[in-house]
Amino acid sequence: MSGTTSIQGIGASPGIALGTACVIDARRVRTPKVKLAAHHIEPEVMRFNTAIALSDSQLEDLKTRVVGVGREGAEHALILEAHRLILHDPMFVNEVIRLIRERSCNAEWAVRQVSRLISARFRSLSDAYFRERRSDVEFVSDRVLRNLLGEVVDRDLELPAGAIVVAHDISPADAALLMQTTEVAAFVCGLGGETSHTAIIARSRAIPAIVGAGRAIEAIRNGDFIGVDATRGLVLLHPSEAQQEELRAGMRALVLKEEQALKSVDLAAVTRDGVRIALFGNIEFPEEIADLLAHGGEGVGLYRSEFLFLNRSEPPSEEDQFGAYRQILIAMGERQVTIRTLDLGGDKIPGKKPKREPNPALGLRAIRYCLKNREVFRVQLRALLRASVHGNLRVMFPLVSSISELREARAELEACRTQLSHQGVPVGKRFPIGIMMETPSAAWTADRLAQEADFFSIGTNDLIQYSMAIDRQNRDVAYLYRPLHLSILRSLESIVRSAKAAGIPVAMCGEMAGDQRLTIVLLALGIEELSMSAGQIPVVKQVIRRVSKADAVEVLAKAMAFSSAEEIERFLRVELTQRFGENSPMG
Ligand code: PEP
Ligand code: MG
Repeated sequence: MSGTTSIQGIGASPGIALGTACVIDARRVRTPKVKLAAHHIEPEVMRFNTAIALSDSQLEDLKTRVVGVGREGAEHALILEAHRLILHDPMFVNEVIRLIRERSCNAEWAVRQVSRLISARFRSLSDAYFRERRSDVEFVSDRVLRNLLGEVVDRDLELPAGAIVVAHDISPADAALLMQTTEVAAFVCGLGGETSHTAIIARSRAIPAIVGAGRAIEAIRNGDFIGVDATRGLVLLHPSEAQQEELRAGMRALVLKEEQALKSVDLAAVTRDGVRIALFGNIEFPEEIADLLAHGGEGVGLYRSEFLFLNRSEPPSEEDQFGAYRQILIAMGERQVTIRTLDLGGDKIPGKKPKREPNPALGLRAIRYCLKNREVFRVQLRALLRASVHGNLRVMFPLVSSISELREARAELEACRTQLSHQGVPVGKRFPIGIMMETPSAAWTADRLAQEADFFSIGTNDLIQYSMAIDRQNRDVAYLYRPLHLSILRSLESIVRSAKAAGIPVAMCGEMAGDQRLTIVLLALGIEELSMSAGQIPVVKQVIRRVSKADAVEVLAKAMAFSSAEEIERFLRVELTQRFGENSPMG
């Protein structure tokens, strides 16, 4: 259609939206050093002063807008006023000007240097409140930098409800913040793959999301009217009337489908030959519990506790964590709640100033981070032990790659238990301690790990990432994310076999668990606990109720005779279409 541009990306969270694009750019502001000729130095100082004046009027403007908005508005206004004071602080302004003059350098570089220096001073203070203030300095210098570079600022506050957020990249922390503060209609990201954490959060909030759309999104301007069909991974820039109507019809069909699926909420997930599957939910925030229960979730299969740590520069206290864990346990009553200890590192980085690692996915992540940062780990373990008296808790450790990590983590938990008991703090009965199976080394040693873990939960997002040697954030290798690759199927077989031989439960909480096209494979493999986003539960349940385990086993055996993922996928599609006709879960 003339006037319409379509951009193809990866549909990461299904759904359809029409709305106004709100382009944000979360790329770090780049501040290379530029050497200035003598006659450019005073104009550079003026440029800096202009950016300060512009930042000041923006802050003033924001303050007038938020001040009337209840108690929070008044607090927000105070913070903005504090930012204005920093903006005019001679320690900041004079120092930047001095650097420009003495080093003949550009204003951006000078601002970055001075802000680093001031932040470092704040960081070294012993008082937590003052340490926290360094992020204010960073916010202010970021604003000045963006103004120097002529970028759009104030994206958080200017997002209108129903906006479609378009960004080169959105960190999980930013995505969480945006979803909590604004009614975002959809996300479109240049980077990312189906299992990047931003995609996962969007899925759990049932917000349509397209990732990996590449640089083509640069054609989208702030305020453009766009259509998003995340079910097909398609973005339409300036959709025609006919295309808009088609998208609206698609939205209506999705609503009907959801209504239909919700009818099964009170039914058990049981196959035609009587195999009962437990369907749990993955959550990132305690507020998601209501939605999980509304979709028939029988428990929490994965609480990604690290989300408590994002968007703040100091880790949450033991009391904060205890409060969050207790809230979830109480809300779930008798139902099982599996809390995963911190999976920080990789793309989930605490604080505003992440320490960069050359290969974050292969770095100090998850259990490695916790075993290295013992005090952070102990605070969490204490909070978990204290919360355990309030419900049916299981705890699991992420990214275990060797049995020694399991032993060390268990020992730390026991030490915390003993310490709390000595202090007379109630810690309740012992609860199951499990591990996530998400590295090839864990899969290969599953028989030994099963001797010392109380349960397994398979994290297929990482298991696939590490087995296939693909960065799950990198859209260029997203085509290799293939849950039906023989290596993955064989790993799953062997993990389940080891768990069953040792008599421990085996669950799956990676995205593969909620993919209705793969449910039959998981049934055949004998995985009897599946954990997924709330919205996926009714759909997966419908598939389970329509098949028999015996049929599933037969289908998988035939599928695994093929050698390539493409052949296996093709075989399954044909097989399921023949068996289920129009209602095939393959769609
Ligand atoms: C996984 O890796 O499959 C998983 C569930 O953990 P996360 O997506 O948080 O890495
Ligand atoms: Mg993982």
